[in-house]
Amino acid sequence: MVEQTIWLAPKAISFTAVCAECADEHGFFAARVEGRLELERAHSSTTCGRGHPIRIERANREPIGVLAC
Ligand SMILES: [Zn+2]
Repeated sequence: MVEQTIWLAPKAISFTAVCAECADEHGFFAARVEGRLELERAHSSTTCGRGHPIRIERANREPIGVLAC
């Protein structure tokens, strides 16, 4: 299983991303993952609704947006 990482912009608190494994199996619209990362935290982790692990990392500088890979 490939571990996924979502990079958040420096000032982002909440995010919506797509679990790539769910997208493969169930389609893009079934793969949404939502979460939060408080500003004082640099990283976290979560799981999608089907239990795939996803790492959350805060990027140090602009601009980056939200990427899933
Ligand atoms: Zn998933």
